[in-house]
Amino acid sequence: MLRDLYGRVVTNLRITVTQRCNLNCIYCHREGEKDFEKEMDAERIAEIANAFYRLGVKKLKITGGEPLLREDICDIIAMMPDFDEISLTTNGMLLSDKAEELEESGLDRVNISLDTLNYEKFKYVTGGGNLDSVIEGLISAINAKLTPVKLNMVLMKGINDEEIFEMLKFANSFNKESTRVILQLIELIPNSNTKDLYISPEFFEKQLSTISRAIKIRDMHRRKQFLTPLGIVEIVKPLDNSDFCRHCNRIRITSDGKIKLCLMSDEKVDISNLHGEKLKDTILKVIKLRRPFFT
Ligand code: SAM
Repeated sequence: MLRDLYGRVVTNLRITVTQRCNLNCIYCHREGEKDFEKEMDAERIAEIANAFYRLGVKKLKITGGEPLLREDICDIIAMMPDFDEISLTTNGMLLSDKAEELEESGLDRVNISLDTLNYEKFKYVTGGGNLDSVIEGLISAINAKLTPVKLNMVLMKGINDEEIFEMLKFANSFNKESTRVILQLIELIPNSNTKDLYISPEFFEKQLSTISRAIKIRDMHRRKQFLTPLGIVEIVKPLDNSDFCRHCNRIRITSDGKIKLCLMSDEKVDISNLHGEKLKDTILKVIKLRRPFFT
């Protein structure tokens, strides 16, 4: 088991498999990577995932850049050990052609980034994305049983802050017999270009709590899930949130194969030349360097 000095058990691994992307979202934090060296090959990704799996990590999230740009993405998934859950976050543009093969390779579910249902705004936010392709991708993911699909909606003032209930209804329109789509509202981590778009999720929390049948608190980051008559909404609120950090059980691997201790910090540890026992021992040591970013 991987436990840090703050008693937090690391159960979730998030691997960036590429920094390449086919969109250019106005807010993208690039998973906290500013630069990168060489993209890991599938064997190396599997070796690192295996090392974490043997140390007790239960869940894997594959991310990017856009992970579906990797031609070997299905091979990567098929090479993974038997995690309790393997999920992938995608912009959905290439999903409709790949959903079935991804499922056959062992993918359990997807997160799809979808900030707005307005065609003009979608194009603007994504730097030229095609909303219809993403919706087709979503439908293919549901048909391939890559569910529950989480729709990742980054909250942006003046762009999608008046669209939450429309998006919730859209998500719920797929939930006729069972919950297949969950809306995830994500607090914008702003940079100098996007600081004017920031809006606190607390405003929406208040609105959602008035219509919720129940509010569930997840272990992961103490995220709130609002069970509303219109469907389930989860809120991801990392900024200045000591509760989020106190209950963070995630560790990251960058696209060039370094351990990244936290999205918000630049601390990385190079494990690129390590294998076997050395890799294992380094992971055990690095876990002890984790500390909450917001206290
Ligand atoms: N290309 C894939 C996608 O669009 O899902 C994977 C990479 S993307 C960096 C992963 C997630 O990070 C997306 O859901 C995106 O919305 C979220 N994200 C990116 N920049 C963000 C920011 N500044 N604040 C909050 N979330 C952000």
